Amino acid sequence: SKARIGLVGLGVMGANLALNIAEKGFTVAVHNRTAARIHEFIADAGPLAERLIPAETPAALAAALGSPRAIIIMVKAGAPVDETIAALKPHLDPGDIIIDAGNANYEDSERRARELAAEGFRFIGLGVSGGAEGARHGPSLMAGGDASAYAEIEDILTAIAARFAGKPCVALLGPGGAGHFVKTVHNGIEYAEMQLIAEIYGLLAQVEKRRAWDIARLFEQWNEGPLRSYLIEITAKVLHALDPVSGAPMVDVILDRAGQKGTGRWTVIEALKLGQSPLMIEAAVAARAWSSEKDRREMGAELLPAPRHEPAPPILDADLERALIAGRVIDHAQGFALMAAASEAHGWNIDLARVAEIWRAGCIIRSEMLDDIAASIREGLPGGLLIFAPYFVEMLEEAVPGLRRVAAGMILRGQPAPALGAAIAFWDSMRQARGTAALIQAQRDYFGAHGFARIDAEGEGHHGPWAEGS
Ligand code: NDP
Repeated sequence: SKARIGLVGLGVMGANLALNIAEKGFTVAVHNRTAARIHEFIADAGPLAERLIPAETPAALAAALGSPRAIIIMVKAGAPVDETIAALKPHLDPGDIIIDAGNANYEDSERRARELAAEGFRFIGLGVSGGAEGARHGPSLMAGGDASAYAEIEDILTAIAARFAGKPCVALLGPGGAGHFVKTVHNGIEYAEMQLIAEIYGLLAQVEKRRAWDIARLFEQWNEGPLRSYLIEITAKVLHALDPVSGAPMVDVILDRAGQKGTGRWTVIEALKLGQSPLMIEAAVAARAWSSEKDRREMGAELLPAPRHEPAPPILDADLERALIAGRVIDHAQGFALMAAASEAHGWNIDLARVAEIWRAGCIIRSEMLDDIAASIREGLPGGLLIFAPYFVEMLEEAVPGLRRVAAGMILRGQPAPALGAAIAFWDSMRQARGTAALIQAQRDYFGAHGFARIDAEGEGHHGPWAEGS
């Protein structure tokens, strides 16, 4: 009999996703460029092997599937996806469905949706979050693309997705690249949240010289309160771990250079194109880039003077928790504002409350707070900004002073706080009905006669007394 769905790419993510699908009772035809991997995978699949059909070639994969065919591609993002599609296409029929489940750039998904539609195929760009463990036992799934195609595979996606209070964390969020865009922003928010945590860790470990396991206990404690989330939980676990080689805390023997595969950078690039500035995500991308300039920092440690000993009030642990709470809300506020802007610009009509809902479980940024975020978005965000929602205004009334004290304290102590600093800068900017851009406008008019609007008159083309001939 025919398999219900096909899957190409038995790497870490693809293999786990295939097992997840098989476990939910669907037969999966599996293919991998390197064919040896297919048999190795099935041999290791245990009892689930009976629902896995090996397909050594794209033709065999197509032959193993019922009509219309649905094939998940889970290979390295970029050109490999196009190569895989090109290899499959000769064996497909009109109406067949291609699902790219890798971390695609949303523009590639828009293009693939267009190109495939022109040839009569249907496309879904599927953002998958949760790492290997999520793929195996329940990821958060962010779909974009053809609604009729989504309907054909919705039962499978619903069965394999993570669940929050019984509700599956999967949704069709819009056409074309909408799902991959949302996945990209998810990763951007994740970057900023990881950076926030790293900054707080930096204060505790590097300024206060607390040991990793003491810091771990703090994170464990925070994970019992409003900060409860996957990233806080794994931070505690990571800080508890010891290096089997040296016996030292694992974190102390890891080189301080952060890797990045590009989704944080993409978030920032797309944001800037839309006239948005999610400053916390920008700061997190910057911090990873600076971290990789290890040689330069080693030079800087010799060449640049340490901060003078400034009088600075002690920083309370309770304020660190408040800073993390405020930082997380502001991070999400910036990420959701970005998705709103993209949805508007592309006409995607993304249900942002639904996005928050499908992030409540399965994905890396999952947290209890996302449930409150979803509720606030459903009620309608004043000004389209999460920090204006009554629930969060109240929460931040207490948390922001903590953020302010921590950010200021870190600056006085010479400890870098790019994400915390970005968070408080955004907050204070949004709080100012009248900012300082009048001076920018005056300068622009002075050197470029760009003109400005006045507070007391109509029109944009006013000039100052400095303009030539005035
Ligand atoms: P792996 O490196 O484990 O696997 C890569 C897979 O891609 C292999 O099956 C490989 O086949 C295949 N492949 C590579 N190049 C080509 C090509 N040119 N043509 C055909 N197949 C090719 O990657 P992951 O499973 O980690 O990642 C897969 C996708 O999932 C990526 O887009 C990644 O960004 C995304 N993702 C990863 C997450 C993670 O936590 N790892 C989380 C969420 C998304 P072969 O065996 O022949 O080399």
